[in-house]
Amino acid sequence: MSPVIAIKPASSGCVTAPVLHERGQREVFCGLTGIIWLHRKIQDAFFLIVGSRTCAHLMQSAAGVMIFAEPRFGTAIIDDRDLAGLADANEELDRVVTRLLERRPDIKMLFLVGSCPSEVIKLDLSRAAQRLGQRFWPQVRVLNYSGSGIETTFTQGEDACLASLVPVLPAAAPDAPPELLVVGTLADIVEDQFARLFREMGIERVRFLPPRRAGDLPAVGPNTIYLLAQPFLADTARALDGRGARHLPAPFPFGSEGTSRWLLAAADAFGVDLSTFERVTGPGRERANKALAKYRASLGGKRIFFFPDSQLEIPLARFLSRELQMRLTEVGTPFLHRQHLHEELLLLPAGTTLSEGQDVDRQLDRCLAAAPDLAVCGLGLANPLEAQGLTTKWAIELVFTPIQGYDQAGDLAELFHRPLARRAKLALATQPAPVAPAVGEPMLQARA
Ligand code: SF4
Repeated sequence: MSPVIAIKPASSGCVTAPVLHERGQREVFCGLTGIIWLHRKIQDAFFLIVGSRTCAHLMQSAAGVMIFAEPRFGTAIIDDRDLAGLADANEELDRVVTRLLERRPDIKMLFLVGSCPSEVIKLDLSRAAQRLGQRFWPQVRVLNYSGSGIETTFTQGEDACLASLVPVLPAAAPDAPPELLVVGTLADIVEDQFARLFREMGIERVRFLPPRRAGDLPAVGPNTIYLLAQPFLADTARALDGRGARHLPAPFPFGSEGTSRWLLAAADAFGVDLSTFERVTGPGRERANKALAKYRASLGGKRIFFFPDSQLEIPLARFLSRELQMRLTEVGTPFLHRQHLHEELLLLPAGTTLSEGQDVDRQLDRCLAAAPDLAVCGLGLANPLEAQGLTTKWAIELVFTPIQGYDQAGDLAELFHRPLARRAKLALATQPAPVAPAVGEPMLQARA
């Protein structure tokens, strides 16, 4: 029997587990952050943030902009002066966009990205995108979405961006053969690995959203079967459902097991026989298992606590508990999308404490009381927790790093191992040096 099939869940895991719902103060980055990985993926797109100086500073420091490079994102700063007359603000925006597109003929897709300052909220960016889209089509497609920090968590920026793309995807012919659409930004190297595995399994018609080039938008229709590569794409999935596409339920491709089950869902849907699946995925699974084995000794048995931040928490908790034997103290997630996470919840050990939403003070109290070996949290919480003696991992790093697929399973484990190794080294370095016993003095006395 396939090693993948053999590890089908025996119980219903956490599907019916109680969830602590928190609705208090939150501590998260805003959706603008998604631009950092999205602009690398869609190589001829430009992200124009319509925002404040704060937004510009966030992006500049988060993305480490090099001033001598031609950037593919920027901020049109709206200030108090613009608030006086919205007509002027629209004119100013048109002027900025015109200047940008005249100077940069390489831009084929322009996203106007909204933010949360009140001056910006008053601007109707969808109308601005329509107006500018008519003017610059067919050279440039102009779209808009919001990366605002109000009521969002940072990965919702990607969801909003991809959801804005869905209405402009071409319609697939009704008699087109079934096509697999992988949805969610993957590093190019990961995308290439998955494309090769699908090809070797005999699934020839595979597309990715977002594409690498603006002119390469995949067609979508009732013959589209889509697999989510990221767990935070609720709006995008809803928009795809609205275009008639069919969602393929699967766990997410983290670790050896997650990747196998994710690929298996596609193999089943496209009628790939089990022996072909085994032949194609076996070597990758073996590499992943070998890479993970060396981290099991350092991570196995360690207790981990997840603050709600990236929406990757539940799939990562499943990976860490099932493949590295880590113990889950609390798994918090900003949103618990039961439909998309059903396969993950099935695999999560029964009895795991789950929470949805955030009330940061209460959660900090629970974290400190639990005293985990490792806390996964946002940047804002990391330093205070470290000061309290806890070891932390920045959740955002897990989104920036290629972690999906067999060949990245070891790198994913390394991300959790590294802070623990650093803490152990620091503890060694700060230990007082043993006092050398004076000649003739007994060792025991010197230590006392
Ligand atoms: S969108 Fe809002 S939260 Fe994000 S940087 Fe701009 S002002 Fe700050």
